[in-house]
Formats: sequence, structure tokens, C-alpha cells
Amino acid sequence: MCGIIGLSSYKDVIDDLLFGLSALQHRGQNACGIATFDKVFHLHKGLGLLSTVFNEQTASQLDGKIGIGHVRYATQGGNDIMNAQPFTSNFPFGIAMIHNGNIINFEELRKSLNEENHYLLETTNDLELILYKFASLLAKKNLSNLQVDDIFDAVRKTQESAIGAYATISLIANRGLLAFADPHGIRPMSIGKKETPNGPIYGFASESTCFDFLGYQLLDDLKPGEAVFIDNNNLLHRQVCYQKKRAFCIFEYIYFAREDSILQKKAVAEERMKMGRILAKKVKAAGLKPDLVIDVPSSAYFFAKTLAAELGVPYERGLAKNNHIGRSFILSSQKERESTARLKLNPIRQFIKDKKVVVVDDSIVRGTTSRNIVNLLKNAGAKEIYFVSAAPPIQHPCIYGIDMAIGSELIGRNSVEDIAQYLGVDALIYQSLEDLEEFYKDEQFCYACFNGKYPVEKSKDYIDMMELDRKRNNC
Ligand code: AMP
Repeated sequence: MCGIIGLSSYKDVIDDLLFGLSALQHRGQNACGIATFDKVFHLHKGLGLLSTVFNEQTASQLDGKIGIGHVRYATQGGNDIMNAQPFTSNFPFGIAMIHNGNIINFEELRKSLNEENHYLLETTNDLELILYKFASLLAKKNLSNLQVDDIFDAVRKTQESAIGAYATISLIANRGLLAFADPHGIRPMSIGKKETPNGPIYGFASESTCFDFLGYQLLDDLKPGEAVFIDNNNLLHRQVCYQKKRAFCIFEYIYFAREDSILQKKAVAEERMKMGRILAKKVKAAGLKPDLVIDVPSSAYFFAKTLAAELGVPYERGLAKNNHIGRSFILSSQKERESTARLKLNPIRQFIKDKKVVVVDDSIVRGTTSRNIVNLLKNAGAKEIYFVSAAPPIQHPCIYGIDMAIGSELIGRNSVEDIAQYLGVDALIYQSLEDLEEFYKDEQFCYACFNGKYPVEKSKDYIDMMELDRKRNNC
């Protein structure tokens, strides 16, 4: 998972890119980068947080009224500087590109680019494949008189070749800013608009929250398979190039997106509140009589709030969070994850002691966080602990850009009784997938991590390949 932003303006965009990106920092903390263009490209990227990689001096070199920015959460490709985005190509003319997502026919695409075009790719990052595929298709057009339709045609052919889940933004030198989505529209991408004395300007971002900070209005979201081009005169062109059945990632609402974002016309906070109400059905059915409901900050707050209201039980902020420690999941080793989880949360004993506590988290993946929280609550004197997951059991790996671990690491594959025992809780309640699907019956979401129904062709082949690789590497 990554966060991406692209802006085209009548003035330098670097300040807005940095502000916007900082609102997306939750989407990736491994690396970040920005490319701008005036007469030439300016690029700066590095490993770590925005505040580590960018300072006044580096930002002052990023001139240009058009630019793109990326925060990275490594899924495909190692966590080294070679894989930090944006990537650039200087043919057929300069293109800088960023993406959020994952290509699943990586090997096939890499091979065909090698064989057909003799490209020797430099990284293990799937963005390089999209960039080179797109660039090679553009190169076949009449470059001295390139039309918007030529760009959309190259997008369509890229989408046909690059199978997976992705939202991309490209800065095309002297032409404009292009965003396009995979045919199922799995990953989020919003379009923003701002009125200026020179006329309207537009931008793209993974989440609408960026636009709030930059004074843009949220105009729309990219449709599945859609390409949107902002030309050099700041005019907007749109075309659905290659569309399949919509399958927007439900996990964006459950965990990934910020609560103040609006994705696909749904406010994340409100969806979490609705899901909290649905959860209450299962908690009530279990016949539990808790004294209070607490959340695992921060993503579980809205689930907990409505769950508590439905149960008629007080909600308390029972866990204090150190906001200066990153998302523990994003750390690469289990040991690091465990120690960070311990440092991150501290129970407020006065609320917990001698209480029967419902603790709500957005999800349980490997169980590291939940087990640690249960221990903290026990040490704080909780009488009984009922753990509630706002996500149904995660039983299948996400291969569309959310790093959910390999199947065998997913604790949700075990029985609820066994998981409850492992966590050391008095009760464990998961959101019901059926209830969720019933509630969202008019929507078309991707629930693959819960039910294994992968919307994209060739997904099973990719999973088999991943499992095989993993086994080989463990040998
Ligand atoms: P775990 O400790 O492995 O069970 O992970 C669950 C915790 O990580 C939950 O508290 C979630 O808030 C968070 N989480 C869930 N999915 C992800 C993800 N794909 N990336 C980062 N964090 C996640």
C-alpha cells in the first residue's frame, strides 16, 4: 500500500505536494519521493519518513508547476532506494510515474518487455513494468502531434497487459499529468479541483483528505479502468479505457484510509460507524455483559463508538497511544513488530481495573498486536476481556498491494476457539462476513482477504508462485 499525489497548477507545486503527502504518510513509511517538472525533471527520493527525506534545501530544488509525490509501503520489491518512487524514463520523452498497488503478472510482463523491446529492467518493482510498458506504447504514436486519444489508447493497452490492482499517476514532460486505474478499480484515487484567479486547477490523490489541506474540493473518484488527463492548459480529459467489474478494496474503509477521507463518495468515519452497528449484532448474540467498550487507537475508534452505543455501554479511551511510533505492521521482522507494539500502547488502569472490557480493533492479521494488547489489559487488572475484530477473519493473503502476510501466517485460518485461546481472551468476536456483504449488497467490493474470491484473473497462479517462492527461500 502506498500514498500518491499529483498536482498541476499555475504556480510552483512543491509546497502543496509536501503538505498533501504528509496527509498520506499513514499509507507508507518505508520511502518517499517527489518529481517536478519545469524545463527539466527535478527528483528527490529517499528511505524513511517525509520529515527525514525532505528539508528546506531539498524542497527548494524541486521547481515546477506540475509534480507528483509518493509515500511507499513495500509490497513488491525490496525496501531499498532503487525501489523508491517516482521512477523516470527519458523515452519517448520524459515520464515520471508513481503507483499504489501490485501487478500480479510481474514475471510474464517482465519477460515480454525483455523479449519484445530488449529492456533490461533495473529493479524488482512492478511500477517499472507499468512505466516501460506505457512508454513503449506511447513511443509508437506520432510524437510530434500527440493527441489525448493517443495517450488514452496507450493506457488501454497498458491496462490490458498489466494485470493486478493499481492506481498510477504520471507526469508527462511538456504534456501534462495522467492518472489511471486498473480495470477493477481496486485501489483508491480521488480527483480534486481548486478555483484560482487563472482558472480551475486539478489534482489527484489516493485519499481526499489531502485536498482538504490544500483547499481543493473533492470532484470525483477515478472509475474502474478510467484514465484522467490534465493537459498543459489545465484542462481535464477523462475516458474509461478498459473496464471490468468493480471491486473496490473494503479494507480501505476498515483499516487503511484515514477516517477523515471520503472514498467513492463514502466517508470512512461513517462507514466505520455503520460497521460498528453491524458488529453489535454479534456481540449481543454472544450474550456478553461488558462494563465498557474501548478501542485500539486510532483506526478502531469509530467502530467502538457505535458498538458501545448499540450495547448501551460506555465507551472510554482505555489505551493511550504514543503517536510518534509508526504503524507496527509495517516493520519487517516479527521481533521489531512485537517490541514496537509494546512501546506504542499503554492502558489507562483507572478505566480498566476490575472491569469486563470489550476491546475493539479493526482487524487481526498475525495476532501479534491483539495478543500484546490482551496482556496489557490483563496487567492493568481487567476482570474479563472480550476481543472484537471489526474485520471478518482474514484467511487469504492480499495480493493487491496490502501486505497481509503469507497464508500460513494468517491467524484467522484457525478456529475462533483456538485463536481466543492463543490471545488469552474470555471471548473473541469477529465481524460476520455475511452481515457485511448483506449490508453492502448494492456495492461491489473486493473481499478476497476474507473469502478467497479474487476478482482479478491469474490471481491463483500468483498466490501459488508466492507460496512456492516462500518455501524455496525457507529451505
Ligand atoms: P497483527 O498484529 O499482525 O494481528 O496485525 C493487526 C494490526 O495491524 C491491527 O491492529 C491493524 O490495525 C493493523 N493492520 C492490519 N492490516 C494491516 C496492514 N495491511 N498493514 C499495516 N497494518 C495493518
